[in-house]
Amino acid sequence: MPRSVFIMSMNYKKIDFPLAKYCCHYLQGIGPKNAEKLEKLGINTVQDILFHLPFRYEDRTKLISIADILAHKSAVISGIVQSAQIIRKPKPQLICYVTDDTGMLVLRFIHYTNFQREKLKPGVKIFAVGEPRETYQHIEMIHPEYQIISNDQPLPLAKTLTPIYPSAEGVSQRLWINLTEQALALMNQDREAVDEDLAELLPNDILAQYQLPSLKQALNYIHRPEKHANLFELQQGKHCTQLRLIIEELLSHRLVLLKLRAKQQENQASAIILKHHLLNQFKQNLLFELTGAQQKVLSEIERDISKKIPMMRLVQGDVGSGKTVVAALAALHVIGNQQQAAIMAPTELLAEQHYKTMQHWFEPLGIKVVLLKSSLSAVKRREALTSIVHGDAGLVVGTHALFQKEVTFKNLALIIIDEQHRFGVHQRLELKSKGLHGNIFPHQLVMTATPIPRTLAMNFYADLDCSVIDELPKGRKPITTLAINNEKRDSVIQRISAICKSGQQVYWVCPLIEESEVLECQAAELSYENLKQQLSTLSVGLVHGRLKAKEKEAVMQEFMHNKINILVATTVIEVGVDVPNASLMVIENAERMGLAQLHQLRGRVGRGQVESYCILLYKPPLKGVARERISIMRETNDGFKIAEKDLKIRGPGEVLGTKQTGEVNFQIADLMRDQDLLTVVQKLAGELWQDSPELCDRIIQRWLGNKEKFAAV
Ligand code: ADP
Ligand code: MG
Repeated sequence: MPRSVFIMSMNYKKIDFPLAKYCCHYLQGIGPKNAEKLEKLGINTVQDILFHLPFRYEDRTKLISIADILAHKSAVISGIVQSAQIIRKPKPQLICYVTDDTGMLVLRFIHYTNFQREKLKPGVKIFAVGEPRETYQHIEMIHPEYQIISNDQPLPLAKTLTPIYPSAEGVSQRLWINLTEQALALMNQDREAVDEDLAELLPNDILAQYQLPSLKQALNYIHRPEKHANLFELQQGKHCTQLRLIIEELLSHRLVLLKLRAKQQENQASAIILKHHLLNQFKQNLLFELTGAQQKVLSEIERDISKKIPMMRLVQGDVGSGKTVVAALAALHVIGNQQQAAIMAPTELLAEQHYKTMQHWFEPLGIKVVLLKSSLSAVKRREALTSIVHGDAGLVVGTHALFQKEVTFKNLALIIIDEQHRFGVHQRLELKSKGLHGNIFPHQLVMTATPIPRTLAMNFYADLDCSVIDELPKGRKPITTLAINNEKRDSVIQRISAICKSGQQVYWVCPLIEESEVLECQAAELSYENLKQQLSTLSVGLVHGRLKAKEKEAVMQEFMHNKINILVATTVIEVGVDVPNASLMVIENAERMGLAQLHQLRGRVGRGQVESYCILLYKPPLKGVARERISIMRETNDGFKIAEKDLKIRGPGEVLGTKQTGEVNFQIADLMRDQDLLTVVQKLAGELWQDSPELCDRIIQRWLGNKEKFAAV
């Protein structure tokens, strides 16, 4: 790579070439102060400047008659100052009356200088740009940009549309214009140094095939769109020049995953010899037959784990589709090879439950299952750790506590991560090294709790192979979902009473209070007390996040064994809990919850043979998105459909749960706006990956080079 002036490696540049010193060389008008401001914005190179795109445009190429001015629509006018005066109320300000042939406009300066006051005299010709607003008496512009011009001078109308840049740190629009002007000039002169950073990284045939402009064409256009440009498209971020950049950025994110995947496949894993005999023994004790979909996914896993490269597989399946048993069967192959498997659950509650299930399934086969959680006594913990390190524990179940330093496995060959809908590439990268023995990596199975829409899965789990359990166990009856006004609670109570008398059980989920766990638990306690009073002949239990693990476990046990009729809970039971005898789910203040969460909660019922119901209690009036969510819930039980709808309502960042973790962090792309491009990007990434691996590296470097985790790939 030729040594570029603005070197790609940020670190190198920062040490050796501070921007101020640097840009003095090339870009004028950047003193140390401005350089510091720009650096705070992460702007260090000519490339950074040019990739800092306008967020809107104004048309300052045409003059508008004062009579034609519309409120709130930026306008360019020219006229003669008729009078300029200082008014003192409510605060001193300079008011300037300007007319053209068609009307009168007021320019208002709440801050003004003496110089301004002297220059804005009656009779001078003024050229002004600003956003007008309407008052009772007139149309006015507050603090317009203006120039005083002489009569013989041509009007200083813009030749291109005027870009307006997002700005912070007190960097002015004027400075942005200045910087981009110089940066574009440098780019267009093809200086070697700049050229390296702004090289065209998409092959010509691809540009032609997708009808995209070159990088340089795109940047020139985006920063200075021609007078007659399609302003609407530009404002929406849908102009082909913008798409050109967006596609490249999305591409970089996908390519990095493909690269990650390729890297992973260079790793070694232990090839598992399949133990069908053991599995048959297991299946004989099972009370049900696997569904076709479970069988299919199991075969996919079997094919993976019998190879010498680590499996990286995502299993998607709707709630209740039976992912746990598939995981257990995969683990069984591994354990049959005298190696260890681990299941990681997101909550202690779920870890407990998996532990019980696995113990029940595995102990008859003489396999030791160990539970590792943070609330174990010191003695129990030591015992657990010992059997993990000695290898007598075939299967280890736990929360993330599994991956603490002091946990050493004898020979961990399979990691199962259950119910993770917030499992981004960062975490995947972190897990990579866990359970590593010498240079042998464990196989990994990730099971999502919430189905992910296809386009998203393809783009954001590109480093994983994907299996789908697309069939529910036989005999499941669809859950009937009702939305009931909170004021009609009494009818719900009656229904609960009837259901419990027939021997079935009920979940009652209390309002989600995002701001405070304490408030949330208090609300749950209140509902619990009320229900106990109203249903005094029934037994009511309570679980919430602030109970001790032991207490939680005790209540759950009672519920599982049908000693409790009604389980009042906060959303802690959102994922995983499995009590087939429960056939009614009541969700309070359902209007506050997201689709994915509602669907998860509802999935706790409908697991047995009887007809199940989900009642969404809402506080009227039901409006907007909340209304839409509840009607979607009533329409369908299909998690994949719900995920698609959720994507439309909330956008990909939220659906993937990556917004919070800052995972999907784009400079230019906006997943919500640019969803439609994902399919193209996916295809394109595949082509580039095949044909031009070196370009792939450069694209990743350009967009993600400064992101440590990705750069490490
Ligand atoms: P999820 O995919 O939501 O994790 P689980 O694995 O908890 O679902 O399974 C839900 C329930 O369905 C459990 O009670 C499980 O024993 C049962 N189950 C799983 N597979 C089958 C099947 N093939 N036939 C009948 N019941 C099944
Ligand atoms: Mg599950």
